[in-house]
Amino acid sequence: MSVSRQEWVQELATLLNATRFKDYCPNGLQVEGRATVQHLVTGVTASEALIEAALAQGADALLVHHGFFWKGESPVITGPKKRRLSRLLAADVSLAAFHLPLDHHDTLGNNAQWAARLGWRKTHALFPHDPWAVGDVGVLPMAMTVADLCAQIERLTQRPVQWISGGAETPVTRVAWCTGAAQGFIEQAAEQGAQVYVSGEISEPTVHAAREWGMHYLAVGHHASERYGVQALGDWCAQRWGLQHTFIDIDNPV
Ligand SMILES: [Zn+2]
Repeated sequence: MSVSRQEWVQELATLLNATRFKDYCPNGLQVEGRATVQHLVTGVTASEALIEAALAQGADALLVHHGFFWKGESPVITGPKKRRLSRLLAADVSLAAFHLPLDHHDTLGNNAQWAARLGWRKTHALFPHDPWAVGDVGVLPMAMTVADLCAQIERLTQRPVQWISGGAETPVTRVAWCTGAAQGFIEQAAEQGAQVYVSGEISEPTVHAAREWGMHYLAVGHHASERYGVQALGDWCAQRWGLQHTFIDIDNPV
C-alpha cells in the first residue's frame, strides 16, 4: 500500500496540530522527494548516518524528530549539510520533520510515549496555563526508591541514567518529565511539586537547582528519551495507509 507524499504530510501536520507551535525549525515536509510513499523510515535525527541507512533500506521517505534548518544556524549548504541534502535529493527521498508538535501530542508524542513505556500516569501539564507548552507532571504506578526508578529507566533505554540527588532518599511517587534538552524547566517541575524531574540532558546549573530545590534530577539521554514518539508516529502511518515502516536507531550517547 502507498500514500501520496502530499496527503501523507498534510495528514500528519493536522494530526499533530503542527501550525500551532512557535518552533525553532520548519515542521512538516523539509525536502521534497518522490510523489508517493510506500516504505517509510523513521529515526530521531536526520544525520548523515540515518540518511545512508534509510537509502540502503530503499526508503521513499524519512520521518524524523530532529530535521534540518534550525533557527540561528548558517543557511549555507556546505560540508555535512551539503552531503545530507545531496544524498536525499539525488535519491528523490522526502524528509519530513516534526519537532515540538511531536513532543507534545497526547498519545503519539515523545512525552506521552515515554510515560506509557514506564507506566507513569499524567495528571497535568508542566505549564498548566500554556496549552502548547511541552512537559508533563504525574505519578509513578507505585512508590519506589529513586535507585529502583533509575534501574527501570536503564532497562528501557539501555544506557546509564545520571542521577543528581535532591537529598532525601525516601520512596517517591510524584514525577515531572520533559524529553530532550528540557533541563531548563527544572524550577517549573519543583514548583509543580515533583519529587523527581526527568529530562534528556543536563547542564552545570541543573545540579545546583536539584540540590537547592530538594528534588531529584535524572538525565536520561536526549536521544534515548526521544526514540519513542517518531516510532509511534511511523506505526500510525503504517496502520493508516498500510505503509511499510522501519525505525532505525543510530546510537547517540547524549
Ligand atoms: Zn530533541
